[in-house]
Amino acid sequence: MMKPSSLFSKITTILPVLALSMSMMQCSCSDTLGSLFISEDDELRLGTEFDVQLRSEVNREEYPIYNASTVEKQEFQEYIETTFESVYNAIPKSERPAYPFKVAIIEKDVINAFAVPGGYIYVYTGIVNKANNEAELAGVLAHEMAHITKHHYRDAVMKQAGLSILMDALLGENASQLSQAVASMFSTLSQLKVSRENEDDADATGTRYLGDSRRNPTGIATLFSRMPSSGIDWLSTHPASTDRVGAVNKLVGSEGAAKSWDTSEEAKFQSRFEAARAKM
Ligand SMILES: [Zn+2]
Repeated sequence: MMKPSSLFSKITTILPVLALSMSMMQCSCSDTLGSLFISEDDELRLGTEFDVQLRSEVNREEYPIYNASTVEKQEFQEYIETTFESVYNAIPKSERPAYPFKVAIIEKDVINAFAVPGGYIYVYTGIVNKANNEAELAGVLAHEMAHITKHHYRDAVMKQAGLSILMDALLGENASQLSQAVASMFSTLSQLKVSRENEDDADATGTRYLGDSRRNPTGIATLFSRMPSSGIDWLSTHPASTDRVGAVNKLVGSEGAAKSWDTSEEAKFQSRFEAARAKM
């Protein structure tokens, strides 16, 4: 069953947009359509339900959430959360969605990080191990945050889950309908694929966030320059352009992404990164 009032409001919102999209033959309409079909509140509901299911017993083997069972492990987790928060704080308020961003660590030797609509970001210990310094780790977080501020995952979920299943999830009368719909699109949500165009945008936007957090803004580029060009999980959902490193370096040189980079703090960043990772 659908709530008549919200269904009415969706339909009255959607109809003029469909007419508009038909009249703009060559437009890239998904951004416009995405915000009308899925509000930030909807994104948050989807993401929150996804996070509950990811942490459930049935998904524990595939997504083992980091178990901070010792003081040292708690300190590692706090380091990830503090780093995450400092990158988040560098995002201009005007670019932030209304919902807060959250980070969880998945304890698996997989080179990947992903996010779902609603501000939920998951980072694997495998990619933390791949990073050489804090700027590279923070770069991965900044890149994922940029996908969220630009609503790339919201638009991807519309394309990849399909509209009818999404509408079932979002217009359902009770929580179990949302829960069932999220369960049926769980694997889609955990592997939302973005376009190369979105990927370049997340590199550029994430590089700005990274620099504004006072870290070396080339972190995203230097990490990915050391990755193999195939065979890693990250690349299956984040298709890189051929000259990712060159594009980031050009941006850093030309648009002031490095204006807040505090080189005097590099040694401090490096030692706290290494100390925290040793406790992982
Ligand atoms: Zn990406």
